[in-house]
Amino acid sequence: MDIVKGNMGWIEVVVGPMFSGKSEELIRRLRRAEIARQRVQIFKPSIDSRYAANEIVSHNGLGIPSDNVTKASEIIEKMQPRTEVVGIDEAQFLGDEVVDVCTKLANLGKRVIVAGLDTDFRGRPFEPMPRLLAIAEEITKLLAICVRCGNPAVHTQRLVESEELIVVGAGSAYEARCRRCFEPNPALAAREAGPLLLRNRAANAGGK
Ligand code: ADP
Ligand code: ZN
Repeated sequence: MDIVKGNMGWIEVVVGPMFSGKSEELIRRLRRAEIARQRVQIFKPSIDSRYAANEIVSHNGLGIPSDNVTKASEIIEKMQPRTEVVGIDEAQFLGDEVVDVCTKLANLGKRVIVAGLDTDFRGRPFEPMPRLLAIAEEITKLLAICVRCGNPAVHTQRLVESEELIVVGAGSAYEARCRRCFEPNPALAAREAGPLLLRNRAANAGGK
């Protein structure tokens, strides 16, 4: 997006597994916009209240104030006309509606930066992120480091036995894994992780 004329808006999407640095990258872009004295509004779904209520916090402790929303349309309700840059974290929890919300904001001339998980605990595309990727002007795919072997990690490994799409709040319920070390069946992964997981949980109690 090096040539943008007039007040045209656009959509930037940042995807990848957990621990890949999506929040870090979102915070970096939003900070730079603030340094440029642009008007910024930042949102995250209130489902993700693991760490801080009104703040986006990355796994390495960077933070930026944010507004909690329970559904995507609240972003439109809370939008101030003079806002130039809109940040949205954990967009995978906001449902299909977030696609229309981002389109509307970009059409109004705003720069929309959206971060979220592109795949779920089984490695399947995590709606609505694939649809956001399809309509975005710019896409950044980040990888984490596989905690098993050190290779680039594209997957979010679930370590607790649950087939629910959303399991949040469990400090060490997830880790980053490469495609070789990834186990899509959480029941098998949980059995294998067992004692190690309990030890990690005790160590991380209270953390994101
Ligand atoms: P995301 O939003 O994608 O979950 P964050 O921005 O919250 O990621 O956190 C990224 C940070 O997490 C990294 O800068 C690093 O300090 C830390 N981290 C912890 N575990 C890993 C891992 N397995 N791979 C990469 N980074 C990790
Ligand atoms: Zn691996």
